[in-house]
Amino acid sequence: MDSSCPRSPAPDVSSRPEDWLFLGGGVALDLVNTLRDRAVAPRETLASDADVVMWLVDAGYPVEPTAAPARPALRAEAVALRSAVDALLAPGQKATAEQVQLINTWSRVAPVPQLDEDAPGRLTRPPMTPVEALGAVAAEAVAIVERGELEQIKICSHETCGLRYLDHSRAGRRRWCSMRRCGNRAKAARHAAATRSGRAL
Ligand SMILES: [Zn+2]
Repeated sequence: MDSSCPRSPAPDVSSRPEDWLFLGGGVALDLVNTLRDRAVAPRETLASDADVVMWLVDAGYPVEPTAAPARPALRAEAVALRSAVDALLAPGQKATAEQVQLINTWSRVAPVPQLDEDAPGRLTRPPMTPVEALGAVAAEAVAIVERGELEQIKICSHETCGLRYLDHSRAGRRRWCSMRRCGNRAKAARHAAATRSGRAL
């Protein structure tokens, strides 16, 4: 980080969709993971209401990409929900009563599943507003608790990463958010260290 920068210590803001990773094993953790590099210097990737709407689209919700946020401070509300969900789900944290209340309030906004009128054996997904989609994210956080999966939530072992994920591996010993990302980064670092110390691998 540039220490000559006079700005406040607020997380750097960047709204690059390529920073949005969907590796958490579900949308609730994927929302948490929009605050990147938590382990060292948290980096914000939801910089505006439009970013929140685009993230919801990328997360697979049937939200119109140009949908008006319909709330004056959608980003601030999304960020507050994100903090509450992280406090609820991440290992070693504890959500406050207010945060639990916030998640419950949001999850009540989630649309209930609808049957397809032409094929009643199937579900249909009518378009959602950004607010309804955020409600669905909150409902997914509640569903993780309902499914008894709290113990399976891990934090990536890479020193700078900090991504949260559901470990569905049989042995429950997954260490990385993704083998391709942090697993390989760690392997490369070990290789470089071994080369530096003159050891043959
Ligand atoms: Zn990682």
